[in-house]
Amino acid sequence: MHEMGIAVEIYRAARDAVRDHGSGRLETVTVSIGELSAVEPELLRFAWEAVVAGGPDAGATLSIRWCPADQHCPACGEAKDRSDGSWLRLCPDCGNPLSINGGTELDVEQVIFVPEETT
Ligand SMILES: [Zn+2]
Repeated sequence: MHEMGIAVEIYRAARDAVRDHGSGRLETVTVSIGELSAVEPELLRFAWEAVVAGGPDAGATLSIRWCPADQHCPACGEAKDRSDGSWLRLCPDCGNPLSINGGTELDVEQVIFVPEETT
């Protein structure tokens, strides 16, 4: 499950972002995950909970923005789903390879944290 490694990376990036602004406890971290990034959102959320559990940021939420790939057929010109039952991305109407844009996102978009109270 490579999601565990990704969750650790996201956590590290989020902690760095908090440190840049002082200190505090993570509340919500938003990440964008592309359809083609080979990340399973449910597994990533599960891994995230394991990463933050027991630490100072236990209970922090991982918010996932799913980014579908934008695909279209160069012959038909429309956005298409790939043919059912095939891993090849072929146009279900004419069989041409689909042109794919995006869907490979794997980015930390936003880090929300509760600043530590200074006395
Ligand atoms: Zn087509």
